[in-house]
Amino acid sequence: MEAKGKFFDPRDRRVKSKARLPRVGSARPTRLVFAAIATLVVLIVFLSTRNGSIRLPERLVHKKIEDMQRDPNLDLTGEPPEPLHRVQGNNYSPDNTESDRINATLLSLVRNSELEPLLNSMKDLERTWNHKFNYPWTFFNDEPFTEEFKRRTQAITKAECRYELIPKEHWEIPSWIDQDLMAESARIMKEKKIQYADLTSYHQMCRWNSGFFYKHPALADMQYYWRVEPNVNFYCDVDYDVFRYMRDHNKTYGFTINLYDSPESIETLWPETVKFLADIEKHSWVSTQNSMAWLRDKERRPEHYAKAGGYSTCHFWSNFEIADMSFWRSQAYEAYFEHLDRAGGFFYERWGDAPVHSIALGLFEDKNRIHWFKDIGYRHIPFINCPNSPKCSKCEAGKFFEGEDFLKHEDCRANWFKYVGNEWALPEEGEEAHA
Ligand code: GDP
Ligand code: MN
Repeated sequence: MEAKGKFFDPRDRRVKSKARLPRVGSARPTRLVFAAIATLVVLIVFLSTRNGSIRLPERLVHKKIEDMQRDPNLDLTGEPPEPLHRVQGNNYSPDNTESDRINATLLSLVRNSELEPLLNSMKDLERTWNHKFNYPWTFFNDEPFTEEFKRRTQAITKAECRYELIPKEHWEIPSWIDQDLMAESARIMKEKKIQYADLTSYHQMCRWNSGFFYKHPALADMQYYWRVEPNVNFYCDVDYDVFRYMRDHNKTYGFTINLYDSPESIETLWPETVKFLADIEKHSWVSTQNSMAWLRDKERRPEHYAKAGGYSTCHFWSNFEIADMSFWRSQAYEAYFEHLDRAGGFFYERWGDAPVHSIALGLFEDKNRIHWFKDIGYRHIPFINCPNSPKCSKCEAGKFFEGEDFLKHEDCRANWFKYVGNEWALPEEGEEAHA
């Protein structure tokens, strides 16, 4: 399949209109007329770019990039292709019972003590997106939310807020975990400087995000979610319904940032995955369009691959996720999670939900159903996805991390572009893009 969409670069237009100005005649009235026209042109260009009318590619096609030399976020980014569902009249009003919203929610696991940082995240997401679409927020906690938490979160959104308690059986350390062995493992991991190794609640959080959130009764009618953590930033106006984008374009999972994991935290995760796949029925669940080559890259960071027993450790950074829960609810994922949970690595090691989700997607999902939300400017300290777009502010296009230089080695986006492709890349002049 091929497509030859081209973005229209508004900068081209601006340069041309400016270049013509000095040639304007010298008679005063004529000069005034031209000045008026020039102002009008500049205004039209400004308004049209603000409204996102940068021309869209007809569809996104993964273009493989052998070696990412230049950050793709330096290239101008518009919106993804149509169909895009937008606000028209009151179709997304909060109290509209016949609204165009689909079964989807903003979702946040959070502690009462994180109220202020959560409000920061909410304000950014409301300002850039949700004040237009008014999707409900669902908050989860292993303890009851305080009245203050409920009052102050509800105060900054017109959308409905729901406050849910996690059932004990979804949170507590399961019976088959040997707590002495767990304590001893935590001590060893701490020596290896694995972050949060001895924080039991962190292990519980990773397990809940891997295998439980989508089983909560409050989400029974929900299909899609957008995961939001405290203290994250959203930088760009997004003017289409991202959940409908997922549905209309047949997407399962959307990410913004790709990173390497610390291999010491997941030493037996890939070996356990291999054991799981040894069963012929389970192996049959692997997609014919899988991203195995991405999971198995050993060239770009060989020591990570070796320590993780055959997995690159490259993963979608899951503090941002826009996804379809049908995938987590599928027979394949449920069996995979069950296997991992019994193996005990959420407690004897420090398996994160990010590598668990990523491996599952890389195996069982068609890679074309995984989408890079390049146009959603996002930061969870210290990593950033900042596109070059007139819709964005307060972030620097193409800047991937903040802080010490060593952080750049954690960037794993090049692997995705190498093995699966950059779906936003434009074909070279005279070249066709291939799916
Ligand atoms: P990091 O991003 O890996 O450093 O981990 P965070 O501390 O940000 O935790 C990830 C998410 O889980 C955040 O949304 C936290 O608010 C939430 N979280 C972590 N531990 C707990 C917990 O024990 N209880 C609750 N309710 N939320 C938690
Ligand atoms: Mn976090």
